[in-house]
Amino acid sequence: EVVAEKPVAAPEPAQSAIRISSRERVIFPGDDLTKGDLADYYLAVAPIALPWLANRPISLVRCPQGRARACFFQKHDAGSFGEQVHHVDVREKDGSLEPYLYIDDADGIMACVQMGTIEFHGWGSLVADIEKPDRLVFDLDPDEGLDFEAVKKAAADLKDHLADIGLTSWPLLSGGKGVHVVVPLAPRAEWPEARSFCERFARALSEAEPERFTANLKKASRKGKIFIDYLRNQRGSTAVLPYVARAREGAPVAAPVTWTELRDIDSPRHFTIRDAAALLERATSRALQGWGVADQTLPDV
Ligand code: ATP
Ligand code: MN
Ligand code: MN
Repeated sequence: EVVAEKPVAAPEPAQSAIRISSRERVIFPGDDLTKGDLADYYLAVAPIALPWLANRPISLVRCPQGRARACFFQKHDAGSFGEQVHHVDVREKDGSLEPYLYIDDADGIMACVQMGTIEFHGWGSLVADIEKPDRLVFDLDPDEGLDFEAVKKAAADLKDHLADIGLTSWPLLSGGKGVHVVVPLAPRAEWPEARSFCERFARALSEAEPERFTANLKKASRKGKIFIDYLRNQRGSTAVLPYVARAREGAPVAAPVTWTELRDIDSPRHFTIRDAAALLERATSRALQGWGVADQTLPDV
């Protein structure tokens, strides 16, 4: 049955008052892409990225001198981002309160880009309800030498196993080597329960097919296998967010795709920051409507 493709209204373009300095600085050497190119990419995709980036604690990969020079992972505010980047105090294990970063609009994204940010990584919970995850991520990390076909097969198998226990999931090309299988949740269960569920799920798969999967963090146990990194799903862990650029060769981006599309995609780096227009157009396609959105809770398993 062919369903007519009704166009979905395109989101309003974003505006930002943040001035980007050093627009001509090449930050992706080899790809000839500048800080200005990155800023243009982020402003263009802000309307489709913000539903994912906004209002959750974020960590930033900052590369002030470009991706080929020193980059650092920044969790806490150093007080230098300006008023467009907000703080939420989060209780650490040692009892102290630490100011984590969050943003809620295009100015927030652009203020981070102005400060040399390339990547945005997010907690799986929102600032409003920080102890209750609203999304789980199974980060599939293939051992070196495994091809993308094996990763795609693994992702599709995870989807089927999740569906068997009542959870709908969506694939995100990581922009790196793997695929993230994303499971949205209504924020009801707290982190320990979510993590426990994810660990049991990953271990069950690796025990059922030990030649293909491992749930063991140790590199040595990954030989020829795919590591199901369930540890993204513990309090304080982050995962790369949809439409985020990666500080890697080719300037790839983390991109939402459908399960059907994934079958024909040949690389987790398929989309790059040169593809803002295509990503915007895709986001309004019928197939990607509702990507990553489902009102569901952890099953009793
Ligand atoms: P790939 O597909 O290449 O694995 P990835 O984004 O999944 O890309 P991983 O190395 O598997 O990369 O990391 C998973 C997640 O762990 C990242 O998306 C990030 O949020 C988090 N992470 C990575 N490096 C750090 C770090 N230095 N400190 C804290 N968290 C990190
Ligand atoms: Mn990964
Ligand atoms: Mn990982």
